[in-house]
Amino acid sequence: MADRPASGQTPAALLLGWYDRHRRVLPWRALPGETPDPYRVWLSEIMLQQTTVQAVGGYFRDFVSRWPTVGELAAAPIEEVMRAWAGLGYYSRARNLHRCAGIVAGDHAGRFPAEEAALRALPGIGAYTAAAIAAIAFDRRAVVVDGNVERVVSRLFRVEQALPAAKPAIRALADGLTPDGRPGDFAQAMMDLGATVCTPRRPACGSCPLAAPCQARAAGDAEGFPRKTPRAGRPVRTGVTFVAIRADGAVLVRTRPPKGLLGGLVETPGTAWHAGPPPAEPLAEVPLPAAWEVLDPPVRHVFTHFPLDLAVWRAHVPKGTPAPPGHRWLPAAEIGAEAFSTLHRKVLRLALG
Ligand code: SF4
Repeated sequence: MADRPASGQTPAALLLGWYDRHRRVLPWRALPGETPDPYRVWLSEIMLQQTTVQAVGGYFRDFVSRWPTVGELAAAPIEEVMRAWAGLGYYSRARNLHRCAGIVAGDHAGRFPAEEAALRALPGIGAYTAAAIAAIAFDRRAVVVDGNVERVVSRLFRVEQALPAAKPAIRALADGLTPDGRPGDFAQAMMDLGATVCTPRRPACGSCPLAAPCQARAAGDAEGFPRKTPRAGRPVRTGVTFVAIRADGAVLVRTRPPKGLLGGLVETPGTAWHAGPPPAEPLAEVPLPAAWEVLDPPVRHVFTHFPLDLAVWRAHVPKGTPAPPGHRWLPAAEIGAEAFSTLHRKVLRLALG
C-alpha cells in the first residue's frame, strides 16, 4: 500500500482537496456546483480517445454549437458529421458517434444510461469510456483507468511489473484508491494530475498532493515508472498518391470504403501501401493518362501502428477531362470543407502549394 501521510488523509482525500483548488477549466467540464451534461461528457470522452485536450477543444465547441443535443446529432447526415470530424483522426469514432447518437435518441428517449454495462453496449464505448461517463456524468463509483491513471498509480505504488502485463494489477490498485464519495471528481482529479503534475517526463513531485505517499518519488525514480516492455520496430510503409488538377482548379478524388483505416473519408486516388520500398510500377495505376511529375520529398505521416512515406505524383489536365469510374472532380472552392484526413490535407498542401 502507499503509505498514509502524517496528516492521516487517504490519497483520495489528498487528491480531491488538490482538485478543489487546481481543477482545470475545460470546455466540456461542468463548473463547481453545475450538473454535468451526459451528452457533453460522452462527446468529449469519444473525442479524447487517442487525442490530446488541445486538439479536441475546437472540435468539441464546433460540435456542440452545430448539434447542442444528442437528438440533433442523431438527425444530422453522416456525411456532415464526417466533415466536421475531419482532421481529428481515428475516423471509426465519428461513425460510431453517429450510430450511438441514433440509438440514444431512438431507444433511450435521448437520455444516456448511467450504468457501465448499458453504456458499454453502445457503439464506440469501451470499458474505459463507459467507466469515465458513469463516473463523470452520473457520479457513479467506477474505476477509470487510462494512460494518465496508469502512470500515477504505477508511481504511487512503484509497480515493478511492466505494461501491458501490469494492467490488471494497476487496475486493482486504482480500484482500491477510488472513493465511494465524489467518484466523478476523483476520476477527473486523477486525469488532471496525470496531465499537469505527474507528467511522463520530469513530473512536478514538489507540487504534487500525493508526494507524501508516493513510493516512486521516495525512491527517487519517478520517471522510471510505469515500467514498459520494449516495442518491436514498426517498418515504414510506402505508397503513391496521384493528384490530378483540372484547368479550373478542381481535384480528382474518391471516397474510401466505410470500414478500415480512414474509412469513409475523401482522398486523392493512389496505390495500396506496403512495407518496403515504393511500388515499382505506379504508372500502371495512374487514374488518368497525363504528364505526371513526381513531387519531392514524399509526405511522411505517422499512424499509430506504422509510419507512411507517401510519394505524391501531380498532373495538370484539360477542363473537359472526365472522371474515371469511382472518382469525381472536387471543385477548388470545396476543398477546404471536404472530409479529408490529415494525411491527405498534407498531400494537397504539397501538390497545390
Ligand atoms: S509524487 Fe511525483 S511521481 Fe508521485 S504521483 Fe506525484 S508527481 Fe507522480
